[in-house]
Amino acid sequence: MKVLKFGGTSVANPENINRVKAIVQNNHTDTIAIVVSAFGGITDLLLNTSHLASNQDLAYKKGLKEIEDRHIDSIRALIPVKAQSTILSKVKSDLNVLETLLEGSFLIGELTPKLSDKIVSYGELLSSFIISEFFKAEGLKADFKDSRQLILTDENYGNATIDVEKTYANCNAYFKNAKNQITVLPGFVSSSGSGNSTTLGRGGSDYTAAIIAAAQKADILEIWTDVSGMFTANPKLVKQAKCVSHISYEEAMELSHFGAKVLYPPTIQPVLNKEIPIVIKNTFKPEDEGTYIAKNNNGNGKTVRGISHVSNISLLSLEGPGMIGVPGISKRFFETLSLENISVVLITQASSEHSICVGISDDDVEKAVQVVNTAFEYEIASNKIKPVLVEKDLAIVALVGDNMKSHQGLSGKMFSTLGRNNVNIRAIAQGASERNISAVITKTDVKKALNSLHEEFFEENIKQLNLFVMGVGNVGSKFLNQIKQQKKYLKEELKLNIRVIGISNSRTMDFDEDGISLKDWETTLANGRKADKEVFFKIVKKLNYRNSVFVDNTASEQVSESYPDYLKNSISVVTCNKIACSSDYDYYRYLKQLAKQYNSPFLFETNVGAGLPIIDTLKHLIASGDKVKKIQAVLSGSLNFVFNNFNDSVTFHDIVKQAQEEGYTEPDPTIDLSGIDVMRKILILARESGNQLDIEQIENDSFLPKESLDTKSNEAFFASLKKNETTFQKMFKEAKDADSKLKYVAQFEDGKARVGLQKIPKGHDFYNLEGSDNIVLFYTERYPNQPLIIKGAGAGADVTASGIFADIIRIGNF
Ligand code: ADP
Ligand code: ASP
Ligand code: MG
Repeated sequence: MKVLKFGGTSVANPENINRVKAIVQNNHTDTIAIVVSAFGGITDLLLNTSHLASNQDLAYKKGLKEIEDRHIDSIRALIPVKAQSTILSKVKSDLNVLETLLEGSFLIGELTPKLSDKIVSYGELLSSFIISEFFKAEGLKADFKDSRQLILTDENYGNATIDVEKTYANCNAYFKNAKNQITVLPGFVSSSGSGNSTTLGRGGSDYTAAIIAAAQKADILEIWTDVSGMFTANPKLVKQAKCVSHISYEEAMELSHFGAKVLYPPTIQPVLNKEIPIVIKNTFKPEDEGTYIAKNNNGNGKTVRGISHVSNISLLSLEGPGMIGVPGISKRFFETLSLENISVVLITQASSEHSICVGISDDDVEKAVQVVNTAFEYEIASNKIKPVLVEKDLAIVALVGDNMKSHQGLSGKMFSTLGRNNVNIRAIAQGASERNISAVITKTDVKKALNSLHEEFFEENIKQLNLFVMGVGNVGSKFLNQIKQQKKYLKEELKLNIRVIGISNSRTMDFDEDGISLKDWETTLANGRKADKEVFFKIVKKLNYRNSVFVDNTASEQVSESYPDYLKNSISVVTCNKIACSSDYDYYRYLKQLAKQYNSPFLFETNVGAGLPIIDTLKHLIASGDKVKKIQAVLSGSLNFVFNNFNDSVTFHDIVKQAQEEGYTEPDPTIDLSGIDVMRKILILARESGNQLDIEQIENDSFLPKESLDTKSNEAFFASLKKNETTFQKMFKEAKDADSKLKYVAQFEDGKARVGLQKIPKGHDFYNLEGSDNIVLFYTERYPNQPLIIKGAGAGADVTASGIFADIIRIGNF
């Protein structure tokens, strides 16, 4: 014999019920029991409607109408017209009883657990009856059997406990005499000894099927649902989750106990005792293999088999000096909860015996607080124990696997993964069986926690980086295009999956939780909503993705002021914007400290020398114990362009104009020509070498006449250059006479930095510097005479974009 159970979605509408029929027809076993849930959504609707009725809210009638329509419509769609009338009249008479029950509840303004069970049982009673009639109409040899006549329970309405002996005997008696091959039965419903309808708990149809399978020693129990098996994590929250092909009863039990809703936890016990295998199958993809649950099925060498979670958990803590060394406190605490049928999901106890802490469902909190405070009234009054403490809106995430006990370091890995992603852990429990490690976290962190843990334990080192990019001008757009080109390579070779989740320019912004398509991001962005830096941050925070990176491609001071918000939320910051690192020393330190504290890298390689690995090299020197003695550098692509092209046959004015027109200078050329840009760069290098320095302390003997520096507009500036041509020509001549070239040099030595124009003689490392190239010489303890030299293209959108890209990859390897 086989038992097949079809869940709510599988029977949600006539189309799906037809799929169910096809699956049943494909079974050629002698006897089949088909257990069905209520049509998808009907149980919730029945419960909501009955609450409305008992609150004397007439809106309950709307709910009732919807319930009636769904059932009547399905009969009309499934059953041939000539067979409809008897079925309709039976269903209508049931619906009339339902109406009377709801009316009664409305009139008295009350809903007892007993009445609630009676009302809610109609979901399964109606669905199973209609489906059995449909099967008959389609020529299947099917009967209907009301499970309430087989499954007997106590009177714990809503979550009844079965009387195993009587139930099994009833099942045996019925199936022994069953006339037809197929019996259709309602899941979830049962009856008490005195004949009242009871139910087996939400999700209980799985349990009904397991009870029948165990009673009949079925060959197999098939649970047909809307997913292709038991997954490594809830597939609705973790897109990368994979189906587990084989799993042991115990592992499945742990996973379901900790929230893998695909199987109702009590389902496993009855079949485990009889060693009946369970297969979880997908009604919508019957060809998928599904999950096979049996004894000793924990193969594949995998230690962690799944990650599950339970939302809506509260922590209840009992603590106080009166608990130390006093026997029986825990017993009383648990007894009190148990007497109220409050289920304890997780327990931790501090080793000092000073406190006991349990996780319970949010729904039970009020009752729990009341009964525990009453039970310990005396101790609370005499200050031996504090009134019970409650923390709400929490969730449990749990790693599950039979083989976890024989592996060291799993909990370390679990907690460091959560910590790295800024998921705060409120409590920890590890079962003595070591089949499970659970952590209590904030409810809003669940998705991030599941995805981070899944990545760590199941995704063969593929790491997902979620980028939020602000600024898509010259550099930003090149950057996005580079990601587009490299995406495949990064995934295959570096195991990095880079997704751009949000982009913004100064006008609009756009987000896509599945990743913005980089083929047509320009259109997507143009059609986005109005840009707003604060809102942008709020969305990034709310999305709460693991490995989030904020990329600042702007030159905006305001944007640079938002870095602390990101870093404090463990969102890394990558920026080519120099403002933050060259502002107040205290701000720079603050950002570095936040990055450390929140484990969120803050990288700005492109602040100096665009894509050249200058800062990274410096970091490695320092980390390996070297000390920087002196830095000499040519760091301005714009000034190089100017002085490489200036001579006695052109005017200085014309060269600067050309540099501006060809995009080698900032729109305001004084920023480059005054040396400010170079000052910022040497400041950053000095700071990164471990020195406390501010921009005002940098000496800058400008080569520009004071009147040029003081100009207020570009026109005035260029006019002043024209006027002072002789000064510039003189500079050139002096250099030429000394067989030297003019270079704008930045230097840092003995804690002091200065920038300025220098005559560089032939043979010097700077003499042959071409175009917009940059060069840096690091003189250190290890490189005292021959400096470490980094030289190459130090300006331009393409190389800057690739520098940002390199920072992103550094984060990927972090
Ligand atoms: P049914 O109505 O068929 O009983 P349920 O909604 O009770 O279906 O259970 C199936 C759902 O369980 C899936 O749609 C999925 O969202 C959820 N689920 C949670 N955790 C897991 C998991 N680890 N593997 C598969 N499904 C899971
Ligand atoms: N219909 C019930 C519920 O929604 C039982 C089940 O579907 O398993 O909880
Ligand atoms: Mg279910």
